[in-house]
Amino acid sequence: MKALVKKEARPGLSLEDVPEPEPGINDVLIKVKRTAICGTDLHIYNWDSWAQKTIKVPMVIGHEFVGEIVDIGANVNDFNPGQIVSGEGHVVCGRCRNCMAGRRHLCSSASGIGVDRQGAFAEYLSLPMSNVWEHRPGIDLDIAALFDPLGNAVHTALQFDLLGEDVLITGAGPIGVMAAAVCRHAGARYIVITDLNPDRLQLGLTMGATRAVDVRSESIEAVQAELGMTEGFDIGLEMSGNSIALNDLIANMCHGGKLCLLGIQAESAAVDWNAVIFNMLTIKGIYGREMYETWYKMSVMIDTSLDISPVISHRLAYGEFDEGFKAMRAGTAAKVILNWE
Ligand code: NAD
Ligand code: ZN
Repeated sequence: MKALVKKEARPGLSLEDVPEPEPGINDVLIKVKRTAICGTDLHIYNWDSWAQKTIKVPMVIGHEFVGEIVDIGANVNDFNPGQIVSGEGHVVCGRCRNCMAGRRHLCSSASGIGVDRQGAFAEYLSLPMSNVWEHRPGIDLDIAALFDPLGNAVHTALQFDLLGEDVLITGAGPIGVMAAAVCRHAGARYIVITDLNPDRLQLGLTMGATRAVDVRSESIEAVQAELGMTEGFDIGLEMSGNSIALNDLIANMCHGGKLCLLGIQAESAAVDWNAVIFNMLTIKGIYGREMYETWYKMSVMIDTSLDISPVISHRLAYGEFDEGFKAMRAGTAAKVILNWE
């Protein structure tokens, strides 16, 4: 089968012929229909220091996908060929304390598809049945391919009650703008999104933000005043991975405000801890998605008019992957869909 492979320990990716995966007794075999490129894939493509530490070559990469089940292992009862599915990319151990307690998203030794084990940028993917999420028949396949990153946005945004609350989102990347759409859907009042990229800020507005702030030329404090806010934001979602943005977020929260941190910070990131203390902020780190409450919420919101389609900037055939990665590197892409059919 064809697959996008990190073949050697250097920048780039190649389209290769590799053996089809052989599903074990607890696995399903999925014929991949669409995939999407994640920032993680770009790290692997660029072969930065994280990728060098993490990826063992050769590796089929990719974890954002939708496909059709074509075969099932002998132990699989709940899935059948023909079902349209995506999959949770974190394969959990099943034996640690959190797994045993049903808190699988807190597994102490999860492995990631397309990172630690063979991934989804391929014609076929074998996945443990415990990681399969079935979509309703007829779902838009491009949207279904985005459930993994949409799940990051949903997991982050729904940590705290949003109804009637004012939300500040730092970073209008694909996950930030999808979070804006989720906050709008969930009944927030003002949703203010920040970035330095005018196209991304515009996308944030398209997807439901009240106000987009280019932090190079505007202050968040001034925008609060413009909106008639006097006490700060109730909820903050950090989705840039930038420490200046993180401190902007902290500085603009109300007393008792709640922050969720998804963006991955540099080790050297400094934080104004006294603002956290004196303003009695709650901070929660967010990783991945909850298995499977986040998946349930996503499915239901997509079925009740949550529209994330504007986040798709490119639809390409899998052979055009280089074009997609180049657009991601240039910052001219939001989500890039690769079609494997
Ligand atoms: P992205 O890099 O495409 O978007 C980040 C955005 O932040 C960019 O548009 C950038 O211009 C903007 N930005 C940079 N500096 C800023 C500043 N000072 N103020 C405001 N905006 C600023 O990333 P993404 O794919 O949307 O993901 C968002 C973040 O979440 C990334 O840091 C990513 O690594 C992280 N992530 C975490 C998880 C997790 O499980 N914790 C999962 C996926 C992604
Ligand atoms: Zn575990």
